[in-house]
Amino acid sequence: MVDQISRPAESATPELLLPAPAAPFPYLWFSGRTVPWDAASVHVSLVGWPAVNAVFEGIRGYWNERQGALHIFRLDDHIARLERSMRLMRMLPRYSRAELTDAVLGLCRANEAREDVYVQPLAFVAGSRAGNHAEGPPEPEMVITMRPTESALLTGRTLRLGVSSWTRISDDVLPPRIKAMPNYANSRLASNEAQRHGYDAPVFLNRQGKVAESSTSCIVIVRDGVAITPPVTESSLESITQASLLALLSDELKISVQERVVDRTDLYTADEIFLCGTSMEVGAVSEVDDYGIGGSAPGPITARLERLFHDVARGEVPARTAWRTTV
Ligand code: PMP
Repeated sequence: MVDQISRPAESATPELLLPAPAAPFPYLWFSGRTVPWDAASVHVSLVGWPAVNAVFEGIRGYWNERQGALHIFRLDDHIARLERSMRLMRMLPRYSRAELTDAVLGLCRANEAREDVYVQPLAFVAGSRAGNHAEGPPEPEMVITMRPTESALLTGRTLRLGVSSWTRISDDVLPPRIKAMPNYANSRLASNEAQRHGYDAPVFLNRQGKVAESSTSCIVIVRDGVAITPPVTESSLESITQASLLALLSDELKISVQERVVDRTDLYTADEIFLCGTSMEVGAVSEVDDYGIGGSAPGPITARLERLFHDVARGEVPARTAWRTTV
């Protein structure tokens, strides 16, 4: 194949080498500026390495039609986790927590969002190869994008899981506790495998062979009326959704909650299992490795929890107002 030399066009408009992704909303936020989606280009040679040090957050906004209000779920906690992820990657905190909060809320306003959304702040160091920052810690670039993402709460969906042949990354290699892009290479291997085997999502075991988490969510099992989850030191992200759900279980639903090491066998003998995370929300599980868990519908505790979580996140009940930031 003969390469055609592509010469710069006469016009001042830069040539797009790849089609631009369709705009989910008119604006994004880039390092202090609200920028039209279609104008947010970077040079192609920047693709690749910046992802190695990138850290990010995934945040949901729940639209309440009756109130005409968009409630952002646990925004402060997500920004605090982003700061911790940046600290671990030795990035300087370029914006304060208040500035990032304003950036997220301002972007939602600029985009006039009137539906459920997923907001993704991302911090990365442009041009940084292996990350040996001889001149001191780098100031990251920060980009916030958002897209419409309908909630799946209360749709009655159930998930089939398969225990993965891939081991979860660990704190001495690539810390799963923080939300760093490279962690998702491990997640991706496992979710591809799960899909090829006809499952909806994988369950990762850690290096000790104990249950860790799924590819983009944490795991909770229910046995004899007790909700059980592995501690974060078993190789999982410090999940904001999981912490919220465990608080609702113990404080509002008066269900005992236990943090303990979970065996693979615990999965197969559980009464109920659910996955939880910002994208996943509450994902009731009906099967693990073809062992049936409860029935084909969400189990009784999972169903009550899902209803309560929905009402709290969407601002239908006064409980936990501190978890909602209204745009
Ligand atoms: N584990 C992994 C690997 C994840 O990507 C996510 C999603 N952020 C979670 C767990 C759940 O975390 P959170 O509830 O904070 O979204």
